Amino acid sequence: MELAERVKNLPPYLFARIDAMKEEALKKGVDLIDLSIGDPDIPTPEHIVEAMKKAVENPAHHRYPSYKGMLSYREAVSRWYKKRFDVTLDPNTEVISLIGSKEGIGHIPLAFVNPGDIVLVPTPGYPVYSIGTLFAGGENYFMPLKEENNYLPDLKSISENVLKKAKLMFINYPNNPTSAVASRQFFEEVINIASKYDIIVCHDAAYSEIYYDDEKPLSFLEIEGAKEVGIEMHSLSKTYNMTGWRIGYAVGNKDVIAGLGKIKTNLDSGVFQAIQEASIAALETDENVLSALRKTYQERRDTLYEGLKEAGISAEKPKATFYLWVKTPEGFDSTSFTAHLLEKAGVLTTPGNGFGDPGEGYVRFALTVPVERIKEAVERIKKSL
Ligand SMILES: *Cc1c(COP(=O)(O)O)cnc(C)c1O
Repeated sequence: MELAERVKNLPPYLFARIDAMKEEALKKGVDLIDLSIGDPDIPTPEHIVEAMKKAVENPAHHRYPSYKGMLSYREAVSRWYKKRFDVTLDPNTEVISLIGSKEGIGHIPLAFVNPGDIVLVPTPGYPVYSIGTLFAGGENYFMPLKEENNYLPDLKSISENVLKKAKLMFINYPNNPTSAVASRQFFEEVINIASKYDIIVCHDAAYSEIYYDDEKPLSFLEIEGAKEVGIEMHSLSKTYNMTGWRIGYAVGNKDVIAGLGKIKTNLDSGVFQAIQEASIAALETDENVLSALRKTYQERRDTLYEGLKEAGISAEKPKATFYLWVKTPEGFDSTSFTAHLLEKAGVLTTPGNGFGDPGEGYVRFALTVPVERIKEAVERIKKSL
């Protein structure tokens, strides 16, 4: 069977490769500490599971949902945005449900990118931005995220020629994998450039609620002019430990939302309504539940950060996300340090170069195991070096 060119030319999906490494280690009987994938280990909060149980019994939810999401779900999203960011959204035109934000990210280039159009993509970055672009026949222009620029793309370095051909720009703050957060000034620069060159901005805000020290990340839509140029994608996955449920949403510019909706009407049939009902309960989660979650991650972050420091390994102390973006020690590159950690310490991480070339020289640690296991990981890493 001959694969299509667009599939043949794909690099293996990063986490599929890591899964293979993991399987091999487990086969050998390694007591593996898996810090590779950003998939929360803590269960979905109980009130959300209870709402799901109730909703699943209602036959009204057993039929096809609407492609854009139930009005009650879109209204819950609007209320959440008003409360969290003081941003007003029309649930009828400025909100659409997604089957996880990955789905929306993968599909949006199909709505707006013609073959040969350029899409501006951060690198290192979540792999779906560039792959969605390739599937739509677009060309990726990679914007490097470097430490000296606080892991923000240097927009001034992009040539006029590229900007003129660019149709879409992906940005992602708080950032995976670097854990950087964006300033208001950066978002203002993005809006300026996007309106000058007619570029649609798609801000992936999957980690907006995983933050530390009460420093709440901004929404792109809080910034004046944002709604004229773009949208924000959100996920319930990371905030409410709901990665398996597959639900998210996109909000913002109504024409962009409508374009994305056109693709979705033709490709999928929306999110199971019972999951939308449970997600309404999720969006109304008590602040205490979320601050307890943040405290858990904070303890893990501090344990790993301090432990790596004692081991002589330098990292950014994240202000948000559940990742540490860690410089490989002297004598290692991304691949060899990942292999060393796996073979000598039984700790699985993600090589930074897997997120794009500028990620070379880094590995990413995810804080998705209990603090006792992080302590154990630190001890083993210290011994291995
Ligand atoms: C996890 C993640 C997503 C995908 O989340 P889903 O809503 O579960 O599809 C999107 N963007 C980034 C940067 C992520 O890390």
